[in-house]
Amino acid sequence: MSSKTLEKLTVAKFGGTSVADFQAMQRCVKIIKNDPATRLVVVSASSGVTNSLVRLGQENVSSEERADTLANIRKIQFNIIEHLTNQATFTDEIETLLSLLNQAAEQQAQQYSAKNADEILSFGERMSSMLFAQVMRMEGLPGVSFDVRQVMKTNSLYGKAVVDIEELKVNCANLLQEKLTDQVVVTQGFIGQDGLGCTTTLGRGGSDYSAALLAEALNADNLAVWTDVVGIYTTDPRITSHARPIKEISFGEAAEMATFGAKILHPATLIPAMRHNIPVFVGSSKEPEKGGTYIQKQVESRPTYRSIALRREQTLVTVKSPAMLHASGFLAKVFSILAKHELSVDLITTSEISVALTFDNPPGSTQAQLTDQVIKELGQLSQVKVENGLSLVAVIGNNLHNAQGTTSTIFNTIEDSSVRMICQGASKHNLCFLVNENQANGVVEQLHQRLFA
Ligand code: ADP
Ligand code: ASP
Ligand code: MG
Repeated sequence: MSSKTLEKLTVAKFGGTSVADFQAMQRCVKIIKNDPATRLVVVSASSGVTNSLVRLGQENVSSEERADTLANIRKIQFNIIEHLTNQATFTDEIETLLSLLNQAAEQQAQQYSAKNADEILSFGERMSSMLFAQVMRMEGLPGVSFDVRQVMKTNSLYGKAVVDIEELKVNCANLLQEKLTDQVVVTQGFIGQDGLGCTTTLGRGGSDYSAALLAEALNADNLAVWTDVVGIYTTDPRITSHARPIKEISFGEAAEMATFGAKILHPATLIPAMRHNIPVFVGSSKEPEKGGTYIQKQVESRPTYRSIALRREQTLVTVKSPAMLHASGFLAKVFSILAKHELSVDLITTSEISVALTFDNPPGSTQAQLTDQVIKELGQLSQVKVENGLSLVAVIGNNLHNAQGTTSTIFNTIEDSSVRMICQGASKHNLCFLVNENQANGVVEQLHQRLFA
């Protein structure tokens, strides 16, 4: 690894389960060694850590719960440290970070702030990346850890910060590029820094997106996303054992899957990859020999049905007003309220006098929620109905908007389920609809059986 110019660059991202413990990290290092073009490694927090940090960042955490949660995080780190060489150094480094975390968590219990919540959330990736670099060195790689906040500059929208892509590019050229020629750099996914010098986060699951942004900024040839399944499946393998891995999939289809809730990739991951035409590989760090899914521009086949995605915890808001009839400006008023509260709408359908909107409100989310205040403001405009307990099912494929018989095939298959709000036609890659949460798994299983058996 002494070449001064980098002929080829792969950016590799390892998710939470892939860096859950020392043995898992060792498997990742083996993967890195197998592809000498891998010079930048992006890691998530070790499995379970971010969920604990989310809790520490919330209001109303008792001192007892705080102590238990911190002890749990500490245990995960020290289970790794006990396998490392140079243990004293890493004990000190991690203790320092844990004590900063403790301070931030105490402060949060006294007075909540979204800014401090993001600071708290960042510790998982900061700890895992530091330990991962040492595992690389122990396995003979020239590993160094790099604080991504030096390059990943964002706005101050805590919990869902927006990255300055141009600045990232300039910063990578100035601060990161050169290191890659003779080192393997490990950095944090998910986190960034705003203009005030405060830590920000990019939204749950954001490490995939960080890796894609870095791959774009560094002109990488490939992005490899290593996770706990052997690629992208026809549906979430946790829902049905009939799900099977997909060999290759186009950018458009995969982007649609990610957007519609296939947790395998953060929704924004494919945007930089598509912009820069960087092929993305998704595979399992536990079973790398089993191959995975290639996401790219050109694919051999474009089947009508590719996969089914499911997004839970959807809220449907129906805003109804006779004033909408032949009136202009009503929708603008609705959206200005949502924009003021920084809420993003997923799906929309409208009729003459009503508009139905869906919102994503998953637990553990760090983003703006649909609060009572929002409902109150919408209520001043019109009649508002809020329904929870819904899931969004999206059938992903090609030409779904005009392939003959797709709608009848899909809805005949699930005719016993009550279907709400159908969206078709906005994208050629998907057809989606809402069902009751308690019917969601069954609907996906039935559809999977019909479309992929
Ligand atoms: P990581 O921690 O590596 O980022 P995630 O838990 O975020 O991993 O994503 C991987 C999980 O995504 C899988 O374990 C699987 O349950 C889920 N998943 C959802 N939809 C799909 C799909 N279509 N194909 C594969 N996995 C999926
Ligand atoms: N650790 C963060 C999360 O759990 C980011 C990620 O894993 O992608 O959401
Ligand atoms: Mg993930």
